[in-house]
Amino acid sequence: MREQNAPIVIIGAGAAGLMAALWAARGPRPVLVLEGSQHPGQKILISGGGRCNVLPSQAAAADFVTHGSSHALAKILRAWPLAEVRRFFEEDLGVPLRLETETGKLFPASERARTVLDALSKIPARGLTAVSSRGATIRLGARVVGLAREGDGWLVRLASGETVEASRVVLATGGLSVPATGSDGAGLRIAQALGHTLIPTYPALVPLTGSNPAHRGLAGVSLMVTLTVVAAQMHVGGGLAPTQGDRKGSPLPVRGGFLFTHRGYSGPAVLNVSHIVVGAMREDSPQPTLFVQWCDLDTAAWDARLRVGTGLALPLLRDYLPERIAALLLAETNLTEVNLAQLPRADRRRLVEALAHYPLPWTGHEGYKVAEITAGGVPLAQVNPATLESRIAPGLYLCGELLDAFGPIGGYNFLWAWVTGKIAGAASNA
Ligand SMILES: Cc1cc2nc3c(=O)[nH]c(=O)nc-3n(C[C@H](O)[C@H](O)[C@H](O)COP(=O)(O)OP(=O)(O)OC[C@H]3O[C@@H](n4cnc5c(N)ncnc54)[C@H](O)[C@@H]3O)c2cc1C
Repeated sequence: MREQNAPIVIIGAGAAGLMAALWAARGPRPVLVLEGSQHPGQKILISGGGRCNVLPSQAAAADFVTHGSSHALAKILRAWPLAEVRRFFEEDLGVPLRLETETGKLFPASERARTVLDALSKIPARGLTAVSSRGATIRLGARVVGLAREGDGWLVRLASGETVEASRVVLATGGLSVPATGSDGAGLRIAQALGHTLIPTYPALVPLTGSNPAHRGLAGVSLMVTLTVVAAQMHVGGGLAPTQGDRKGSPLPVRGGFLFTHRGYSGPAVLNVSHIVVGAMREDSPQPTLFVQWCDLDTAAWDARLRVGTGLALPLLRDYLPERIAALLLAETNLTEVNLAQLPRADRRRLVEALAHYPLPWTGHEGYKVAEITAGGVPLAQVNPATLESRIAPGLYLCGELLDAFGPIGGYNFLWAWVTGKIAGAASNA
């Protein structure tokens, strides 16, 4: 039949699509990658501040968030264990990785995201020769707007009006985050039109906004904090999480970098809990409270420290915190001029709370324009975890950010893209 000889068509040349192409190209049928933008792998290039945090040094299924089955998610991740993905990059693609010990992140030794994209695509001048030498070609500026069944295969419709025949299709179009990189949700709409029921999408790993003018004055100040989220109830990880500390998405106290921005708050600790805030806003549930412990000292340790303090508080606080934050907390509690030796108990308690249990006055989030990831998407229940073939539309394979799963900052989302890209690519051309 005609469509039996048609190529495997991979839609999207991002992280998942390029990995899918490398593996699909090992199979018998030709492989054609259709990329809507003029530049493949744009998110790879901007990732990790231009350094591309390719992988984490450790990962477990429990690090990821899905609204579906954590078992399906774990099964998918087990199919290509982290150590093997790392070996693939270092030995097969020739990209040595270097561990950043303080964060546990793996970056290319070159410190350049371009090294990763070039290795995945080996672009000498124009065109993707690594992909093409294994029997795959890529078309840039080929934006897909629809998919229809044709016999045993597919008819892929481009924005230009052209149609392309495909024996099987791999959908790797990403989510909705940073649409300037080419991912604007088109693939989600295509999946929905084919009968998939989407988990509503929302921005995750996204900076939060705040309205406190004194905080905006601290823009650029960063420090290590511990964040605790107290949420009334949440629908994450396939269950209704309790008030706090559930490993399926309502994290235990999160220690990490915190950054004051011109609009609010960012840094890994904030980004890693942002989905809880955004999720609660979307569901109109009670708003979660984010409590900040500004340094290693918790409430008991601060209480003990302040009890024996003498003189103004600022010199003591400065030993543990950036001076501007110490000054802000003292100003907010009206204790700038107070001598610690005469500090009433109630005031000491207020200061301890401000130092170790500070309710962050967030007001919202910065949306898809800057979010690093899209939460929600095609439910894992609608794909076969062994092949990532759709259970709704056989012959269609789904991978990457399009699927309902994401991980924290630290290389976890590329890990998801590489693993799911490999599974879908290899299975599509088996
Ligand atoms: C600023 C930023 C920094 C990040 N840093 C990191 C990091 O350091 N480490 C990490 O693990 N993760 C990071 N991430 C997340 C990571 O980039 C994503 O998880 C990953 O790129 C998802 O891969 P994907 O292939 O599914 O989607 P994408 O990379 O978004 O690729 C989708 C591709 O499909 C194309 N496309 C979309 N629609 C169509 C269509 N209709 N027709 C044809 N082509 C189409 C797009 O143009 C794009 O090329 C970062 C994200 C952002 C935004």
